[in-house]
Amino acid sequence: RFQMQTAVLFIVSRALRFLALYLQWAIIGRRIYLTEIAFGEVLASRVFRTARRCCALFYACALLYLCGRELWYQCVASSEDMLGDPDQIEQLVAASRGVWDIVVITLIWWVFRRLLAATDCSEARLGPYVEAEAAWARWVLRRLRLFMLVPALANILVRVTAGSVLCAIGEAADVANDVATASAQVFCEVVGFVCLLGMVGTFERGMHKPCDSAALRRCSYSTSQRSQGSGSGLMIDELQCELQTEDAMAKVRELAGRSIQVGALLAFHERLGAGGVMPHYDPWASTTNDVVRQAIIPLSRVPGGGVAYSTMGAAAEVAPVTLVTHAWSNLFVDLVAAVVADALGLKEYGDVADMLAAGEHASLERALQERGVANQACWICCFCVNQHANICGCFAHEPPRGSAAHARWSKTCRDTVTGDVFTCCDCDQSKVFNGNPECELDKFDTMMALLQNEVPGFRHLVAVDRGFEVFGRIWCVAEVAEAHRRSIPQHVQLCSCRELRNDTRNLELYERLTSISVANAEATRPEDKDAILSKIEDVQEFDAQLQVAIVGERGLLGQRFVGFGVWEVAANTARRVKALAKAHQQRHADAAVAPDAAGPPAASKAAAGASVAAVANDA
Ligand SMILES: [Zn+2]
Repeated sequence: RFQMQTAVLFIVSRALRFLALYLQWAIIGRRIYLTEIAFGEVLASRVFRTARRCCALFYACALLYLCGRELWYQCVASSEDMLGDPDQIEQLVAASRGVWDIVVITLIWWVFRRLLAATDCSEARLGPYVEAEAAWARWVLRRLRLFMLVPALANILVRVTAGSVLCAIGEAADVANDVATASAQVFCEVVGFVCLLGMVGTFERGMHKPCDSAALRRCSYSTSQRSQGSGSGLMIDELQCELQTEDAMAKVRELAGRSIQVGALLAFHERLGAGGVMPHYDPWASTTNDVVRQAIIPLSRVPGGGVAYSTMGAAAEVAPVTLVTHAWSNLFVDLVAAVVADALGLKEYGDVADMLAAGEHASLERALQERGVANQACWICCFCVNQHANICGCFAHEPPRGSAAHARWSKTCRDTVTGDVFTCCDCDQSKVFNGNPECELDKFDTMMALLQNEVPGFRHLVAVDRGFEVFGRIWCVAEVAEAHRRSIPQHVQLCSCRELRNDTRNLELYERLTSISVANAEATRPEDKDAILSKIEDVQEFDAQLQVAIVGERGLLGQRFVGFGVWEVAANTARRVKALAKAHQQRHADAAVAPDAAGPPAASKAAAGASVAAVANDA
């Protein structure tokens, strides 16, 4: 009976150790396989699987032999002689374990060398945001590599140490021998178990920001910065100095007092279309420019001239909490949707735009009421600037016929739906342009500073159009830059964040957004661009902030990954960075082959947003 117990104990302990070992291999193999899928390239999972199976088969045979022999010896036979030498088998198992450990270390090292090489984008210069993501992925992958390598390394280390210790103390010290072997085994098991927990993501609690990356520090800066308005009188004096005249400051105060409430904006959109204002309004075609020319300008006309639309019927001045930047070439429905979605706390406006186009204003109105944001006041240039004091009666200067600029200009003079040239307003309002204290077009920077100073929680919202043209308009960029310079909290509304998800295979949008630079923005007059760029201290730093504002909250760095998933995300990132670097190199190679090919595609974008200011500037 005693002998039977010994045999069972021996078998159970051996089987358990074998199972634990096999589980560890299985998890390493699975990890490599999943990493392969996320990375999109075959790494070493097949080799690993074959090696694992061979090793497991050998182990199982050895285990069966040892267990069977033990059982036989304890229960049936009285002599060991006929059953072979178990020590030799034990030694063989130990040796094979050593070989296996070396195979594991080699494979893992090779796999991670490829992954880490993919995240190396130091040569490609993919922009600070991508570099920050790559740095994060490297950090995560190195941790995973550590968890995978340490058990094998510990095993080898312990064997070598135990071997040399045994050699030193000699075979005679049986007790020391047993103690050393047992403690070495316990040590290896504990290390293996801890690393196993690490591999399944037990220690990943959303620690996704490595502290040593300067780029990431910049990222966290942009999301943590808050408006620093202190309401000091000194600052207002400074602003007045900047403007030089009291008249101009009075105009800034007047502008800063205008606003349109989210609910009113929704109601305005409801009036557009058949049976209302601008009957040919088509939500999927009509641009903001169309709506300004055919709805806002006619509606804001008063006897003797015109006013800003937002001041009509407004009982009292309500200071805006949100300043909205948008391109005039965007769909008007997208502008409204972006503002409404922002008020509702949504991350993207696509669904709201669909609802607006379907005429579901009532349910949106209800949602705004329920959230208590229907009265939230926004500053939107097309509503808050008196269009009759500048652009209502004419178009921008006509560029030379036949040029690309002329085609763009022509678009801004025609309705998108009907193709008819807009009828100009013939009001008697006197027109004032840049440099005049009464001008409403050249004071947005002072106005933003004033609002930041006087309105608690003042923020800046960029309503990004579907074509991302807003970042190609120098006047929009100027507003973004000003908000950044003054540390006004910035928010971005995109039509859809789907393409920014970490696992997306469509890199086009991601690449476009992460390569946005103010240096590429278009201006009707080069001197406008120079003046705006000269206000930005560090263009690279500004680009990084811009990219983080766009991608940051929605992209990788704004999310928290917990547990198992974090490894996938890192491998995904490695794939993405590699693809971007490859595309980048390809472009460079193409550029080297044809240096005088057509200019950058950005150059062909219309500058409708800028046209308002351009009229003023050129006039
Ligand atoms: Zn007018």
